[in-house]
Amino acid sequence: MKKDFTPTLLDFGPVQIYLARHFGFCYGVENAIDIAFRTIDENPGKRIFLLSEMIHNPQVNADLQERGVEFLQDTHGKQIVPYEALTKDDVVIIPAFGTTLAIEEKLNTIGIPTQKYNTTCPFVEKVWNRSEQIAIKNYTVVVHGKPSHEETRATFSHAAYHTPTVVVNNMLEAIVLSQYITGEKNAANFYEEFKGRFSEGFDAAKDLKRIGVVNQTTMLASDTQAIADFLKQVMIEKYNLNADNTEDHFSDTRDTLCYATNDNQTAVYGLLETPADLAIVVGGYNSSNTSHLVELCEEKLPTYFISGEEKILTSSLIRHFNFHTKEELTTANFLPEKKPVKILVTSGASCPDAMVENVIEKLVSFYPADKSIAALAATFA
Ligand code: SF4
Repeated sequence: MKKDFTPTLLDFGPVQIYLARHFGFCYGVENAIDIAFRTIDENPGKRIFLLSEMIHNPQVNADLQERGVEFLQDTHGKQIVPYEALTKDDVVIIPAFGTTLAIEEKLNTIGIPTQKYNTTCPFVEKVWNRSEQIAIKNYTVVVHGKPSHEETRATFSHAAYHTPTVVVNNMLEAIVLSQYITGEKNAANFYEEFKGRFSEGFDAAKDLKRIGVVNQTTMLASDTQAIADFLKQVMIEKYNLNADNTEDHFSDTRDTLCYATNDNQTAVYGLLETPADLAIVVGGYNSSNTSHLVELCEEKLPTYFISGEEKILTSSLIRHFNFHTKEELTTANFLPEKKPVKILVTSGASCPDAMVENVIEKLVSFYPADKSIAALAATFA
């Protein structure tokens, strides 16, 4: 059935909010939060650790910390609590992004089982399975992902267990990789240029002859598609391939984005068809999928990436995150002097819906609205 991606109009009179048709929490995040809180209830008196941030949302992580949960690592993999401090009686929750085989082994050696409280999203596991499938056919895996992101590190580890693996962050890096495929660059330079991004024993002269592309599930779908199409074309030209034998050198994996990433991104394309004055995207500042929604919006109109309603300081001042420069900025006069003001609103997969509601409430509070939120909500009941 064809999905509907037209936004929902919340018409408050002087301010009109266009809410993306799909936004916010996905199955994987809900499942992870559910398991995490159940783990707390099931283990009174035990020390409970999270391998790293549960999901990239500060509020959810703070709620867990308030219930006594501690983080073992920060979001970049830096150790906060040393493994030596753990005992077999501790509980360690694996987050939705999954983890590396090396960390799993370390925990198992201490006597901490990694399966019982494992919240790895099935859509992330699907990528690992896809990697294994192409590894069996002797393809090298190219992972399109952010090299330091937990999920990409986990996927890299799982793929590298089966086959040579390399990570590319973007099209520029895919182009550089292609120069090693074609021989334009000397294979000896590969190890410096892709330092920390290739699996142990990777042989740039041999391991780039058969490849397949998988991705971090929250990358921009159009970017992954472009990278896969580009590398496929490089193989076709290098080996003079046709439709019947392209698979000799390039495995068509189809993209490995999850449904939530796809739906949230497609809903933003639907949202952007509405002429509007500004867009507000709600989510954690280190959330990959949220930053991609921001990226799509900012191509079209002024866009403010905020972690919650408290970032809307007044009717004229907003604190918002520039994910390119990784800094929080304050912008004045973010709401134009016109009526009605049209605002596009969406949120990332790790953002609770209540936070979006709070943002809308705050925006509406600046106007003598014709209707209350409750009255408007009743019309959708
Ligand atoms: S965004 Fe997708 S892959 Fe990530 S946790 Fe949600 S459903 Fe799973």
